[in-house]
Amino acid sequence: MKKKYVRKLFRHKNPYDIKGTNQLFTDALRENAIHHKNHSTEYKEILDNFACDLSQIKTIKDIKDIPFIPMVYFKRHDLNSMPFDKMAIKATSSGTSSGLKSKVGMGYTDLWRGFKMIWRLFRYHKFWSLKRVNYFIFGYEPTKHTDVVIMKSANGFTKVAPAKKRYYAIRWDDEVNKYKVDLDYMKQGLIKASKQRFPIRTLGFPAYTYFLLKEMKEEDIKLTMPKGSLLTIGGGWKQFYAEQVDKQAFYDIVEDVLGIKEDNIVEFFGAVEHPVVFPDCKYHHLHVPIYSRVLIRDPETFEPLKKGEIGLVNLLSPLNQATPLTSVMTDDLGILHEGCECGLEAPWLEIIGRVGITDIKTCAQGAQALMDE
Ligand SMILES: [Zn+2]
Repeated sequence: MKKKYVRKLFRHKNPYDIKGTNQLFTDALRENAIHHKNHSTEYKEILDNFACDLSQIKTIKDIKDIPFIPMVYFKRHDLNSMPFDKMAIKATSSGTSSGLKSKVGMGYTDLWRGFKMIWRLFRYHKFWSLKRVNYFIFGYEPTKHTDVVIMKSANGFTKVAPAKKRYYAIRWDDEVNKYKVDLDYMKQGLIKASKQRFPIRTLGFPAYTYFLLKEMKEEDIKLTMPKGSLLTIGGGWKQFYAEQVDKQAFYDIVEDVLGIKEDNIVEFFGAVEHPVVFPDCKYHHLHVPIYSRVLIRDPETFEPLKKGEIGLVNLLSPLNQATPLTSVMTDDLGILHEGCECGLEAPWLEIIGRVGITDIKTCAQGAQALMDE
């Protein structure tokens, strides 16, 4: 079956034209759900259990009726529409205390679609550059020892602008046969880079970035990074809430130590179970691109709430054909806002925190445990 609506959606020129794509998005989402229904008996059972008739998904108001699947479900079940060995990438989300990992994958067409999405979004935000840059990746050095999705996206990101050099904070140590955090290596690298003419780009776990900057501040190190330097933090909010780091405090320390202003700090929202990327605007608002819709639901009745009301964050996207990520429920509480001074009409998502308290700690504890070693 040809995926004509999905293809059309990912060809749409303006990545924030939410109003102009509501019908196209609905058609694409239905098409995606039908695809999964036809390729996964487990997904079909879920639809049947909820008596969901996909032919009734006709307008944007109906997308709430596609059963949502809690993210944790993907950690306990093999819910896939493609055999694992046929997938282009098998993403595993960063570990939780329980040691469970999401079994989520992407096919080759999914990746290609994802690439077009990133191309459009990055062009909109003017992230593409032909200038060579020094990358500082506060994450895993890619080796054969890991397939953590963060590492993959980090590696992909370093292709956005050509790399002069890549510094990784978590490197494989052959002697002890495991990953080790080496923030001193990053510190020396930053000092070196501040004396060169190539801009820097950073990416990765904000917890590490924050630990290092705090240490440098205590040592009275004040650098001025070359013009055009950009600090990006991906999937940052999870660690931020865990670490209780106030965002403004983070922006301040970045300017203090690296001389990079707040305008040049870009945050991304995204998850293994929702591979659409939301880059933030200059007001640090995470506007929803056309490849997604976000529903905020009442935590008890699961009924969709109005803009401005706080509830559970439900993420919907037709991007993925390998795994039924059509409608996934996070355990995050959030608010969908309307209107922003940046001029974008697309609503923006504010993450308030998480429902479960145990999971909040795992990411930061994981980071702390690696640092302590
Ligand atoms: Zn904005």
